[in-house]
Amino acid sequence: MIDPFGRSITYLRVSVTDRCDLRCVYCMSEDMTFLPKPDVLTLEELDRLCAAFIRLGTDKIRITGGEPLVRREVMTLFRSLGARLGNHTANGGLRELTLTTNGSQLTRFAGDLAAAGVGRVNVSLDTLDPAVFASITRWGKLEKTLDGIFAAKAAGLAVKINAVALKGVNEHEFDRLLAWCGEHGFDLCLIETMPLGDIEGQRSDQYLPLSQVRARLRKNWRLEDTDYQTGGPARYFTVAETGGRIGFITPMTHNFCESCNRVRLTCTGTLYMCLGQDDAADFRPLLRGGASDDEIDAAIVSAIGRKPKGHDFVIDRRDEAPSVSRHMSVTGG
Ligand code: SAM
Ligand code: SF4
Repeated sequence: MIDPFGRSITYLRVSVTDRCDLRCVYCMSEDMTFLPKPDVLTLEELDRLCAAFIRLGTDKIRITGGEPLVRREVMTLFRSLGARLGNHTANGGLRELTLTTNGSQLTRFAGDLAAAGVGRVNVSLDTLDPAVFASITRWGKLEKTLDGIFAAKAAGLAVKINAVALKGVNEHEFDRLLAWCGEHGFDLCLIETMPLGDIEGQRSDQYLPLSQVRARLRKNWRLEDTDYQTGGPARYFTVAETGGRIGFITPMTHNFCESCNRVRLTCTGTLYMCLGQDDAADFRPLLRGGASDDEIDAAIVSAIGRKPKGHDFVIDRRDEAPSVSRHMSVTGG
């Protein structure tokens, strides 16, 4: 699938639930309202849409949320998508199945994920300090997430740690986080906060440009240029001292839209062609109205034909309304 700007769309991110067992301050408000269950696609419906994307050339699927591992029976979706792995040829098939998780359920699921064919997981971990972890996630326990991370490692999954950079919260911890990741063989990816959805508090208070973080890290670490790519927006460096990698995702300071290869499906069957724009295509009426596979394929191709050139995120002190009203947990981070 080629979009109007000549970008090849090969990567689908699927949010399987908007629910979560944590309430991270930059992601949700504490009294977040979730979607009514009947609005949410069944796992079979999600699987059918994923199959259509694979038919049309998608070779990488990331399962996300909300917290994907709190969705009941979610492993059935992993197993059925995993069964489509390994058939990748120049003509199609799924090459990679992966997930983004807060790690809280990984002790339970790491083995099943590996058995289903997942090879890599991204785990969100913004801090190694238990008190800071509790204050960022509101409901989380650091120990549970760390146990999950080590369960994933033990199950043979490659782990990448994602940390959102938060001004005055975890900004002095990145040296420690980088050393810890190096010690355990995890890549680290730092992310700028994006203005998605209403939260309690002001986003401009949280926002920390990664250009500053990188300059500070360079005082203690040799970050060497690399052309390593994961098919995502991160710019990676090799850390000479650990041999590990650090990536920076900088939607606010550097726009990465020109190489965008992805679209995002929500758990209600809405396809967003851009994380930072409101245009979308709704597949639920098609699925529930008895559409054929050909009709679904045609609707996907038509949606890709509307993919916009890029986002226009701004964090403006004078205007605290989010650039995009839906939360990251809805579109899938
Ligand atoms: N619950 C899972 C997790 O936390 O990894 C998956 C979904 S979460 C929405 C995916 C990623 O989005 C996490 O790494 C989270 O830190 C990040 N995230 C959430 N809200 C964000 C925001 N407003 N700006 C930047 N990153 C955000
Ligand atoms: Fe939940 Fe992930 Fe959002 Fe945190 S970032 S509240 S873990 S969905």
